[in-house]
Amino acid sequence: MKQIGNWKRISLRMKKSALYALFIMLSIAPLFAAAQHDGGTDRNTATAQTGRAKYVFLFIGDGMAMPQISSAEVFATARSSTDISITKLGFTRFPASGLTTTYDAGTFITDSASAVTAIATGNKTLSGVINMDPGKTTSYKTIAEYAHEAGMKVGVVSSVTLDHATPAGFFAKVPSRSNYYDIAVQMAQSGFEYFAGGGLLQPTGKNNDQPDVIQMAKAQGYTYVNSRDAFNALKPGVGKTLAINATLQDAGSLPYELDRKAGDLSLADYTRKGIELLDNPNGFFLMVEGGKIDWACHANDAGAAISDVLALDNAIKEAVSFAEAHPQETLIVVTGDHETGGMTIGFAGTQYDTFFDKVALQKISFVAFNDGVLTPYKKNTPKAQSKLSDLIPAIQQSFGLDYTKLSAFQKEQLEFAFQRSMANEIERPVAEDQFLLYGGYEPLTVKITQIMNQTAGIGWTSYAHTGVPVPTFAAGAHQELFYGYYDNTDIFRKLASAMNLSVAAR
Ligand SMILES: [Zn+2]
Repeated sequence: MKQIGNWKRISLRMKKSALYALFIMLSIAPLFAAAQHDGGTDRNTATAQTGRAKYVFLFIGDGMAMPQISSAEVFATARSSTDISITKLGFTRFPASGLTTTYDAGTFITDSASAVTAIATGNKTLSGVINMDPGKTTSYKTIAEYAHEAGMKVGVVSSVTLDHATPAGFFAKVPSRSNYYDIAVQMAQSGFEYFAGGGLLQPTGKNNDQPDVIQMAKAQGYTYVNSRDAFNALKPGVGKTLAINATLQDAGSLPYELDRKAGDLSLADYTRKGIELLDNPNGFFLMVEGGKIDWACHANDAGAAISDVLALDNAIKEAVSFAEAHPQETLIVVTGDHETGGMTIGFAGTQYDTFFDKVALQKISFVAFNDGVLTPYKKNTPKAQSKLSDLIPAIQQSFGLDYTKLSAFQKEQLEFAFQRSMANEIERPVAEDQFLLYGGYEPLTVKITQIMNQTAGIGWTSYAHTGVPVPTFAAGAHQELFYGYYDNTDIFRKLASAMNLSVAAR
């Protein structure tokens, strides 16, 4: 009964998070008190608890550390400099939390391949390597494989392609994360019950000369769907399932949450369906990745990153709803694989002020702006006739950027970036200053989001990952394992311990 009460409280807190700031201000103090109280008592309850976590969720926000999470919280409720109320996200209200180091075998700044190897297998390896040792000769068994062998069903969901590093880390072993075809083949052969979300980068191989992985999966007994109606029609008993979203955006991924059309499937939809299909008396392990938080942060687009953090939070709410029905046996863990972008709340130009209301004006992601506005403009306009003023209305509409309110310096920066976009100085710029300015992205677009973000009081230091720790949150059976300051490799052992799986020694 104790656990039932806790899940109801967590769920209630999450529902409240959707309400407005005033109500939150009145209600948040007792909630925090309740959360702290829960933490203390749950520790005791869980110590006495001997049952295994039977329904286990692992949510990974790619590129999600405290700056991304805090920005989403500030965005959700404190959009002006005068309103400083904050509403926690659903998962940041979980009773247990810890800090997780992310360095890999070769660098303090990990990539997603070595990070997922650590989380999924408990081993450090080199950046770029998935589930193999730094010498690339020994492969490691993943937590999902251990769970599967123990009779649990397994699901892997991602908003990026299913052959991308993070999802691949639960079923594949490859010396390079770029071996997309090999990863996809291993997916088809994994026997896992549910794969869903983005597509596959090389379903017929790098040179389109290999057997089609989709056909291979079907031959292995997978039901393949790639339309919303067919997806919604999936019912328990369908068996192994491979579901790829009908609408794919950059590099085979789900659209950014900012760009998702009404009625299109969301990460929450893929999570809810996964629960429905995987639910069985032997339990399940479901990994869900919010993969494009990372991509948005690489491009220094806070609006797109924040809305994808909120989309991940919505997916986590599906797991919490399930937990209410299985309070003693469900564990939900939420973590990030690393921070991306060196994002922070605070910018030299705005000093102690933030203006997150400006982020709310952004209507589409940097990718949608490139695809829908800048690329067609570049294609249809000779360079000699092109001028920034042609694009100002679209920039205003897409990002809410009021050109008339920009400083002379900011206007100059936009003009300079526009010229470079028109000259196609994008891919791997040779000059160091160009890389520092635009990171290999469309100069105009990255400069728009940077100016937008700086005006809001959001700073960026990189177009790549950073080496700071990430937070890990947990709720449910054996949540107490996730208190403290530990390494990403420990998450593997904590999960194994919660599920009562006997795994290989370190
Ligand atoms: Zn990344």
